[in-house]
Amino acid sequence: MKRWLFLAVASFLQAAEPLPLVELPKGQTFLVFQPHHDDHTTDYGMGGLIARLVDEGWKGWFLRASNDEKDGAASYGVNDQVNLRESQAAGKVLGMEGVYSMSWRNDYMDSIPLLELREQLIVLIRKHRPDVVLGHDPWAHYDRNPDHRKVARALAEATWMSGLANVHPEHVALGLRPHRVPVLFLKARWDYGRGHEANVAVSLTAEQVRRKAIAYQTHRNVYASPAMGASICKQLEAEGLTATELDGLSDGDAAVRIEEWYMDWISRKVGAANGAKYAEIYYRVAEFDHLPGLKSYLEKSQLKK
Ligand SMILES: [Zn+2]
Repeated sequence: MKRWLFLAVASFLQAAEPLPLVELPKGQTFLVFQPHHDDHTTDYGMGGLIARLVDEGWKGWFLRASNDEKDGAASYGVNDQVNLRESQAAGKVLGMEGVYSMSWRNDYMDSIPLLELREQLIVLIRKHRPDVVLGHDPWAHYDRNPDHRKVARALAEATWMSGLANVHPEHVALGLRPHRVPVLFLKARWDYGRGHEANVAVSLTAEQVRRKAIAYQTHRNVYASPAMGASICKQLEAEGLTATELDGLSDGDAAVRIEEWYMDWISRKVGAANGAKYAEIYYRVAEFDHLPGLKSYLEKSQLKK
């Protein structure tokens, strides 16, 4: 299963130096800005951090910017609706409050106006006033998925411009006030380009990893399908390999079990590389990162207290 991905992830983890394990920042609200229904629950991150934020009392909302019409084997309209429903169900598993869908056309987001998408994100930021935003890393190596690139760029612009009173001043008439997002946790796929440069690790509990795995499998339109289970079992049989834990399971249950193994493996592997039992890694951007002198002064003065 996913042999090419396994090799990419394994080589990335081997090369990685341990990252600092960070505590969550202070706050109570987070937003997850993603192009696709499943970006927050996939193996490369976010589902575990979402579960941890919720466990520590935060409230979060998820944005699906595209319509996901091409994600799945059904017609465009059916894929759109099924993927949205599965995204809402996965959000509930993780404990999120709700899902927004902007329904921009899947894989055609390069052609949509960046300024329009950016304003949509600014409206959500000014409405929810998040302390943390999660999303794709716009500064990561090139990601072959056009929707990932587009939403990442809009996120980078919206999260600071939303704090400027003279950006979309017309929002004031709608009762929205400027709000700059103080902390970002960003991810990129290891296998859609030349990797991701993370700067922090976030430890997770076994229960948080378990919920991430369940949320992942909730996206049945694209993951853990009976056809995938049947194909892998057939391949094992052809190679004379046995996996007794799969004996007697239906093709669908076998697919779920294999995905559970993968999520547990990757979460343990990232944890072991960074001094925790389970972990995810991120490129974290915090307020004052662009003012290192002030940041250093604040860190020292906080320590003295
Ligand atoms: Zn995606």
